[in-house]
Amino acid sequence: GVALVGRELAQGAGVLLKAVLQEHIDLRNILPSRHVMVCSSNPKILVLGSGWGGYIFSRKINPRQNNCTVISPRSYFVFTPLLTDTAAGNLDFSSIVEPMRELKSNVDFIQAAARRIDFKRKRVLCEASIVKSGVTESPRVEETERQFEEGPETGPMRGKEHLRGWERGQVFEVPYDKLVIAVGCTSQTFGTPGVRENAMFFKDIGDSRRVKRRVRECFELAALPTTTAEMQHNLLHFAIVGAGPTGTELAATLRDFVSKSMAELYPALKDKTKISLYDVAPTVLSMFDKSLSQYAIETMSKEGIDIRTSHHIEELRWGMPNTKGPHEMDPKGCLTLRTKEQGDVGVGMCVWATGNTMNKFVKYSLNEIDEFPVDGALLKNSSATEVKDVKGWKIKKAPKIGALLTDDHFRVQLEHEQTGQTAVLQDVFAIGDNAMPETGAPPATAQAASQEAKWLADRFNRGDLDTASGFSFRNMGTLAYIGSSNALMQIPHEKKTTTNGDGKRRNPYLPEGLTGRMAWLVWKVAYLSMSISWRNRLRILFRWVLNRVFGNDVSRF
Ligand code: FAD
Repeated sequence: GVALVGRELAQGAGVLLKAVLQEHIDLRNILPSRHVMVCSSNPKILVLGSGWGGYIFSRKINPRQNNCTVISPRSYFVFTPLLTDTAAGNLDFSSIVEPMRELKSNVDFIQAAARRIDFKRKRVLCEASIVKSGVTESPRVEETERQFEEGPETGPMRGKEHLRGWERGQVFEVPYDKLVIAVGCTSQTFGTPGVRENAMFFKDIGDSRRVKRRVRECFELAALPTTTAEMQHNLLHFAIVGAGPTGTELAATLRDFVSKSMAELYPALKDKTKISLYDVAPTVLSMFDKSLSQYAIETMSKEGIDIRTSHHIEELRWGMPNTKGPHEMDPKGCLTLRTKEQGDVGVGMCVWATGNTMNKFVKYSLNEIDEFPVDGALLKNSSATEVKDVKGWKIKKAPKIGALLTDDHFRVQLEHEQTGQTAVLQDVFAIGDNAMPETGAPPATAQAASQEAKWLADRFNRGDLDTASGFSFRNMGTLAYIGSSNALMQIPHEKKTTTNGDGKRRNPYLPEGLTGRMAWLVWKVAYLSMSISWRNRLRILFRWVLNRVFGNDVSRF
């Protein structure tokens, strides 16, 4: 059957129907699929998440062979490697996002969060994240996560009982033939008191906007004639917790912003600013070679960043340091960060970037399954479905981390609670940060998530998933910006060795890594070329050139 919608009906129905009926032309060759719904026998692929895994998968999947729908509470994709640049006014927020609904897109999109999966009936229960009141600004991820934690054990409305009707999204089910779970992770707080409530996180555009706004706000508050010198020091002290790539790059980028753009705007305050980078580990950027992380520590310390490695954060609360009693959140005041090593320290803002924890959807909703979906699953290493016990199965997860364990084809695995038997769900896949292939986990990076997404989409397009050999991650190197137009580039260890007759040898032509200006140029070129659309590549290039002439964007809105 063919359904023509809107003005296309009037414009071209006759021509199109003739083409379809007589010449067997796929309508999607003539019109974009958002105008045309072809009720074909193509499998319906449902993708949960619009991040690196979900978005790249949906762009690579062949629309002539599959009907693909993305479900995500976020109606856009974020190019995360450049997120820190937006917080410091180097780039506009819009130049690092790609909308899920695009003119030429062949993928359908529903703005909702997945709440539960019925594996037996192959349906996903979703809650729309657009609410009836028209208030469309989504709450901070951390707030919804907290509601999730505090709510009852199960149910799509978990943690939302207190909301009025119009604040809840509509709940509906979406069927699938194949399901790709790519809902990513959220920030890990290790249960540190006050962090969930008072810290800023740094994962999405909203977070970056909040950081930029708070930095500007702290400068304005410090500039008020009534602000004491002590309060000025506290307000202009910005703490970043977590010295992985995100925290380190954010500290470096904020330091550039504060010491250049802000110092010019507020000359009287320029000597009162401070940026501290905290981590419990003894070094920064621990995934880089030791010599490179040491270079980062030295360069950043020279730039004036206070590097506090081997520091344990104990609490984050509103109020002045060394004062007692509970303090209400007061955006006009400062916060106190307490560490085991330093005691109380006053800060204007604390950004928490200490790594990942599983998304609550993966943590709570994807556990037990009501009944083993006999048609949709295989016993591991067996071509036939021989499951006797339809009850008692649960989703297999990585110990401690809680990521969905998959086989090397990204099929989600199950295990039987009593017998310990394992099985794979044939039509349910997990990629990106929320997944972990049992055969060797690639790092939780955009690089890995996009390679996984491309690999899986290719297998679907070629229809050779069952016969293809498993996925293997190709490390293309790691980059990190460390401030003042300096960066680090880690060359993958595999590339540094060559096989030569009797065994592996160090490649004499490749250095350990690149540092300084050269690495910074590679950083710029790499991320410019990796940006998804030409529209954004040109916007980014143009802004970088404009920044050289007019400086960064310092507006606060
Ligand atoms: P995400 O990209 O986080 O996407 C998850 C998606 O799922 C989101 O769209 C979310 O809205 C959606 N979602 C959440 N819950 C639900 C639900 N219940 N139902 C449906 N959808 C849901 N990696 C690199 O390789 N290089 C870098 O330079 C780099 N820089 C980074 C800088 C920053 C600031 C950050 C935060 C990360 C960076 N990373 C980098 C890591 C990289 O961004 C992640 O590894 C990558 O985003 C993981 O992709 P994903 O698809 O698994 O998850």
